[in-house]
This record gives sequence, C-alpha cells and structure tokens, in this order.
Amino acid sequence: MSTTTVAPTRDIERFAADAEQFLRSAVPTRWQQGRGTLTSDEMDEFRRQWDFILWDGGYSGLSIPTEYGGRGLGLAEEIIFHVLAGKAQAPDGLARVGKSLVTPMLIARGSEQQRAKYIPSIMNGQEVWCQGFSEPQAGSDLANIQARARRVDGGYLLNGTKTWTSFAQHARRCFVLAQTQPDAGRYRNLSMLLVDMDQPGVSISDIRQISGAVHFAETRFDDVFVPDSDRVGEDGEGWKVAMKVLGDERGGIETAARYVEIRSDVDALLAVLGDDPQYASALRDLDIRTELVHWQLMKVADLDSSGDESALARAGAVLKLMWSELWQDVTRLGIAHAPVTQQKHWSYQYLEARAVTIYGGSSEIQRNILAERVLGLPK
Ligand SMILES: Cc1cc2nc3c(=O)[nH]c(=O)nc-3n(C[C@H](O)[C@H](O)[C@H](O)COP(=O)(O)OP(=O)(O)OC[C@H]3O[C@@H](n4cnc5c(N)ncnc54)[C@H](O)[C@@H]3O)c2cc1C
Repeated sequence: MSTTTVAPTRDIERFAADAEQFLRSAVPTRWQQGRGTLTSDEMDEFRRQWDFILWDGGYSGLSIPTEYGGRGLGLAEEIIFHVLAGKAQAPDGLARVGKSLVTPMLIARGSEQQRAKYIPSIMNGQEVWCQGFSEPQAGSDLANIQARARRVDGGYLLNGTKTWTSFAQHARRCFVLAQTQPDAGRYRNLSMLLVDMDQPGVSISDIRQISGAVHFAETRFDDVFVPDSDRVGEDGEGWKVAMKVLGDERGGIETAARYVEIRSDVDALLAVLGDDPQYASALRDLDIRTELVHWQLMKVADLDSSGDESALARAGAVLKLMWSELWQDVTRLGIAHAPVTQQKHWSYQYLEARAVTIYGGSSEIQRNILAERVLGLPK
C-alpha cells in the first residue's frame, strides 16, 4: 500500500475518534431522553442551541474552507460526522439549509463580498436560511415560477408567493428564484436573489404537515427590496445557480443525515423482528438496500472531490431515488409489524417519509433525469 493512501485513512480514523468523543459529551441528555415529551418549541430551541454547540466544538461546516469559518475538510468527513451524530442521537440543527445549500452555492457562484458577508453567520448558527423555489403553481416545473423582481434604482422590487418553504418561521434570510427578465426565453429569464426576511413586505403563514409537525410555510413577498449586491451570478443566470443548489440537495450532506435515520430505523426493526423467519427476507432486502445507499453516498463524496459537477448531479439523482423510496419501504414495514409499544415512533416516521419522494425533486422527476441524462433515452 502506498503512503498516499495510508495517511488519509489514518486522518479519517482520528477524525472519527475525536468526533465520537465530542458527541459523547456534547449531545444534551434531555434531548436524548425526552424527545417524545418535548414540545415543538422546545425541540426547535434544542436545534438552535445545537448549531451553537457545533460551532463551539469546531464541528460546523466541516467541508467549508477555513477562511469562511469552516474546517476545510471533505464531504467524506461530513458524512462520517452525520453517521456518528445519528448514532449519538444528536439534534438536527436549524442552520441546515444554510450549511448544505447556501454555503456551497455562494462558494461556487457567489461574489467574494457575499461569501464574506453571509457564510460566517451561517457557520456560527446565528442566521437560519430558507429556500424560496416552489410556488403554488410551480414545483416540478421549476422554470415556470411566476415570482417577479422588477428593476428599480440599485436593485429589484420582489413580488410573489413561495410555498412549502422549510424553516421560513426561523429564517433571517431566504434565497429566492424569481423572474427578472420576463421577455427572455425559458431558463434565461430568472435570477437568484438573497432576501432579508426581516423587512416590511415579507409575510409567513405556517403549514402543518400530515405528521403534525410544522416545518414549512407559505411565504409572500410584496414589494420587497433586494439590492444588486444580493443577486447571485448575473441577471438571467438564476437557472444555472438553481441547478447547482438542486444537485447539492439531492446528493450532498443532506443525504448523509437521511442515511443515518434510515440505518437507525432498519436497526430498530432488526432488533424487534430479526428473529422471526416470516420477516427474514424483507429485512435482508432493506438491510442490503441501506448499505447500498451508504456505498452510493461514498461514491458521491469521491465525485465531489473530483469536481465533476455533471457526474455528481447524475449520481445524486440515483442516490435521491434510492434513499427516499427505501425509507418509505422501511417505515411501511415498521407501521405494519413493529410492536404496538413502538407505534408512536413508526406512525411519525411513516407520515414524515411521505414527503421524501416529493421534496428536492419527486421520484418521477428523478426517473426522468436518469432516463434522459444517464441512459440517454429519447424524451
Ligand atoms: C416536506 C417538504 C419540504 C419542502 N421544502 C421546500 C423548501 O424549503 N423550498 C421550496 O422551494 N420547496 C420545498 N418543497 C417543495 C418541493 O420541492 C415540491 O413539492 C416538489 O418540487 C414537487 O412540486 P409540486 O408539489 O408543485 O408538485 P407537482 O410539480 O405539481 O407534481 C405533482 C405530481 O406530478 C408529477 N409530475 C410533475 N411533473 C412531471 C413530469 N414532467 N413527469 C412525470 N411526473 C411529473 C410529480 O412527480 C408529482 O407526483 C418541499 C416539499 C415538501 C414535501
């Protein structure tokens, strides 16, 4: 074995050991023991605190360059940390959208001024972000969004309604895809704007999910000013920026968190049904598919370090399809056959998992991408 392969392996092992030690002492006991008894507000407070704890401990933005407050490591370390955090039953921070979507977007397409202004307060947990893409009449057909940002002196006036905006209730900022050139053709008429949510003209209405949780909202913008300096990329280049974001949403750090949750659910099923021969085949299938997700995740991490954005987007579409449909199958078995004492957990997971084949691009859309861009089939 060459020294070039030995050194990174040792570093990764050391990183994992340090992270495990950090998590053992950092995860709040009340969160670990009392999740079923905490109110929604209490859970949000733990999640907000967790962002600060990660920052304090040096575990925020593991793959973000050090000049912006990250650790300058790779996606592999992000994945390992998520797996360990899941095992330690750590909370999921509220800064998730900022870390996994906004920061990579600004690093790839933003200006130096935007990176310096926004990334540090994402890293230290002070500013929560949300994503303003979907609209009541435009989801899968994202290029058809109707929100408009009209040119005014020094910037734009934004008008329109976004929906299913996760974390909007907590967010200080939102990255919004809007039409800025209504006369230009499809894909060339959009721009990506960074919107300050703490100003007149922004209104937020909660939307309750089928699981009972309130994780998202409808967000309206009425004559909201956005300065030119808060446009990411050139005017009319919003579609390209949005594609970068969707690639990260399908295949990046986000998925590592989902893998952890699925692994934990499969282990829970193995613990209660593993000795019963009637479930042996189904459990084996779920177990193998879970590890295939892990393999595909590591492949995405490799592609990420290679910088091949197109291959990364294709691998992300495969990954999104694999984990989202797997998780629904896992929760289906759980709700039908796990002991009645665990029904609260399985009902919640089953209902939460309904959403995963929809957000970040539905399963049908992922299959379209695979058919067209991976298999090269005709439209
Ligand atoms: C929990 C959750 C959180 C979300 N968070 C956010 C957020 O933070 N920000 C944000 O902007 N959005 C968010 N979304 C919205 C999400 O991105 C959209 O719901 C998704 O893109 C689908 O759009 P739609 O709901 O308008 O459905 P539609 O696009 O109307 O689709 C309806 C059905 O038709 C199918 N379909 C549509 N077009 C095609 C096609 N060309 N070929 C085959 N089938 C097709 C779809 O697969 C789906 O089954 C969230 C959604 C959920 C469920």
